[in-house]
Amino acid sequence: MTTALAVRASAAVAAVRTRTTQTAQAVWLGLPDYSDDGLAAWLDQIVPLMAASQQTIATLTDLYIAQILSEMAGRRVQPLGIPAEKVTGAALRNGVTPEIEYERPFKEIWYQLSQDVEFSQAVGLGEQRALSMIATDLQLARTHSSRIALSESGPQLGVVGYRRIVSSARSCQLCQIAATQRYHIAELMPIHNNCTCGVSPITAEKDPGQRIDKAFLHEEAQASDVSGKFSPYYGNHILEVREHGELGPVLTVRGQSFRGPADIPSAAETDA
Ligand SMILES: [Zn+2]
Repeated sequence: MTTALAVRASAAVAAVRTRTTQTAQAVWLGLPDYSDDGLAAWLDQIVPLMAASQQTIATLTDLYIAQILSEMAGRRVQPLGIPAEKVTGAALRNGVTPEIEYERPFKEIWYQLSQDVEFSQAVGLGEQRALSMIATDLQLARTHSSRIALSESGPQLGVVGYRRIVSSARSCQLCQIAATQRYHIAELMPIHNNCTCGVSPITAEKDPGQRIDKAFLHEEAQASDVSGKFSPYYGNHILEVREHGELGPVLTVRGQSFRGPADIPSAAETDA
C-alpha cells in the first residue's frame, strides 16, 4: 500500500511539474521582446505561477506524508497545513526573491548576445535556463515540505529518518545511485539538477523505501533498458553532498568540480 501511495504522490507532483512547465513556456513564447518590457511581463506571470505551483506541491507532499505515516502507524495522522511562506519563493533560496531569480534567464540572453551569440540561440539558452530553474524550484518545494511534515509529525510515531526514493528509472543517474541513502528526519534531502525524487519515512521497524524503489524501477524497466545500469550499493563511493549557498545541499559526483558542466549546469547557478 505504501508503494501505491508513493506512486500516486509522485504522479501528482509530476502533473503539476508538466503543467507549470507548459504554462511557463507559453508565457516565454508570448513575450513582446527580451528587453525590460519583456522582463516585466515575464515576472508578472512567472512569479505568481511559481508560488501557486510550489504551494500545490507542498500540499500534495503534506497529504502524502500524512497518508504514508497513517499506514505505517496504523492510525490516522492529519496533514499539517504547511504555511505557504515556508515553501515558496525566497524561503527556498536562502532569501533570494523570485523577482531577482527569474531575471536570470534574461541576463543569460543579454550575456550571450554580448558574446556575439546569434539571437535565436541566445533566446533558446535563456529559455533552457528558465526551465531548469523552474524544475529546481518545484523540487525544492517538495524537499522542504517533506522535511517540515516529517519533522513535525514523525517523532511521536517513531520515525527516525527517511529514504530517498526515485520516481522513475529516467530519474537522473545520481538519484538512482543515491536511492539507498538514508537521511535524518531533520535533514533537507540533497537535490540535483532536474531531480524528481520523493521520500519514504523510516521507523526502527519499518523501511518501505526499498520496495517502493523496486516498484518504480520495475515498471520503468519494462518500457526501457536503463534500469540496473547503476548499482546503488556503490553510492557512498561515488556521491558527495555539497552545500550550495542558495539551494542548500546538492548531490555531486565525488571528485568532480562543483561547478563543472557535469554536476550543476549554469541554469542552477546563482551568480548571474
Ligand atoms: Zn533526484
